[in-house]
Amino acid sequence: MTKTAELIFREAGAFLEGHFLLTSGLHSPIYLEKFHVLQYPHYTAQLCRMIARHFQKDGVQVVAGPTVGGILIAFEVARSLGVRGIFAERDGDGRSFRRGFSLLPKERVLVVDDILTTGGSIREVIAEVKRWGGEVMGVGVLADRAKGKSDFGVPLYSCFNIDINTYEPADCPQCKAGLPLVRPGG
Ligand SMILES: [Zn+2]
Repeated sequence: MTKTAELIFREAGAFLEGHFLLTSGLHSPIYLEKFHVLQYPHYTAQLCRMIARHFQKDGVQVVAGPTVGGILIAFEVARSLGVRGIFAERDGDGRSFRRGFSLLPKERVLVVDDILTTGGSIREVIAEVKRWGGEVMGVGVLADRAKGKSDFGVPLYSCFNIDINTYEPADCPQCKAGLPLVRPGG
């Protein structure tokens, strides 16, 4: 399972190796360019099926994700489970369901996202689900950069886990080796 998902990222050209400047200002030798995977419906579908399969016996009624990548994941996992898929958009300090999306009290919600790093977006979606009175059944992501250390208080499933080292510029081995620094997505 783990190998398969990582292989999909590599085949899609989403598993980039080199010298990257992260939004945090830290440098990293690996960067996961999630949209390189998400542009291929068949790869996205394969990964989302892994998430759907993991939660298929949990009575999920709605799948919800944060914008932007989470829209695609929520749609595809929901399609696979035969349930509704919705997304939460940035709204002030948190996220909210707009566009007429709503939840019924006690509706069983699976929260999904693409790459789990700090888990901030996922926590915002969970808060919005709870605001509506929904019940969060679990969290599913394509890749977990936090090695399963994130605790959302519900079961977490990741298609694969990856331990990526990040460095302050002063301590960065790629800087010392003189490799050109790349800003991903730039
Ligand atoms: Zn560097």
